[in-house]
Amino acid sequence: MLPFSRVTIIGLGLIGSSVARAIRANMPDVQIMGHDGDADVRAKARKLGLCDDVSDQAGTAVIDADLVILCVPVGAMQEVAESIAADLPDEAIVSDVGSCKQSVSEALAAALPNATIIPAHPVAGTEKSGPEAGFATLFKGRWCILTPPDAAPEVAAEKLSTFWKRLGADVEIMDARHHDMVLAVTSHLPHLIAYTIVGTADDLGDVTEREVIKYSAGGFRDFTRIAASDPVMWRDVFLNNKDAVLEMLQRFSEDLTALQRAIRYGKGDELEALFTRTRAIRRSIVEEGQDDDAPDFGRKH
Ligand code: NAP
Repeated sequence: MLPFSRVTIIGLGLIGSSVARAIRANMPDVQIMGHDGDADVRAKARKLGLCDDVSDQAGTAVIDADLVILCVPVGAMQEVAESIAADLPDEAIVSDVGSCKQSVSEALAAALPNATIIPAHPVAGTEKSGPEAGFATLFKGRWCILTPPDAAPEVAAEKLSTFWKRLGADVEIMDARHHDMVLAVTSHLPHLIAYTIVGTADDLGDVTEREVIKYSAGGFRDFTRIAASDPVMWRDVFLNNKDAVLEMLQRFSEDLTALQRAIRYGKGDELEALFTRTRAIRRSIVEEGQDDDAPDFGRKH
């Protein structure tokens, strides 16, 4: 049985268009309504046939929905939720895909005080944006974390869980604050570090830009993939997960200082012990199916 029969997706970029494609691929009988704030994105979504109908107004798009998923940048969630408040059916479940959960939960609750809200975060993505960047298998074998508020009906979380499983994801339930801490380490900090390294290399006067690009296979290019991620989305993630990111950044700076000292004082055993530990973490990620084992990320040589 289908968990939902009329799903509305607001924000038809990478994640929203992937949700639409994954619904089409896995639950073809579900009716999909869409809306995006950007007229060009709406035109592309219509051309790609992502939804059964793409509406110019967010409110019109939700009128018949039994599930509404907000797939806009985290900083736009409250404004979008407010724009659908008057048209949202009483029985509809509202969810989102935002990369941080505590601030989004609060924003959605403030905008839609009477709605059933189950925030969610599919831990899947790429460095690309926009409706053409999405694909139906994006969520396959990836985790989707649901952070239902204490007062939310259990049945609503169960239905959303079934929905994400039907899209190919594995589902985990978590407290929103805990989610934000975990993702600060596994996603937000790595993005911040990548943005920093690529920015630092770009700023180095005595290494020319040509050299940075020419010798990038030494490691730099792997950071550039992450540092190419959407600027608006990531601006909002850092502004909305401020406390957890600052906490992790503090720990990271302390560890970096320890490494600096190990290098300065020639403590090779300390360096080797850390690098052995980190290599084992890579192995566990591959073993758990969260990445494949191809050398050099499977690049063709
Ligand atoms: P995206 O490709 O840039 O798509 C976001 C879409 O939302 C864009 O088409 C954007 O239009 C539209 N939008 C922005 N403000 C809006 C508003 N007020 N009303 C209606 N539409 C609006 O971004 P994405 O990567 O899909 O990210 C969407 C959400 O997924 C974010 O909350 C992000 O944190 C989360 N997420 C992303 C990833 C990832 O790897 N990318 C992974 C998991 C979760 P314009 O930009 O043209 O204005």
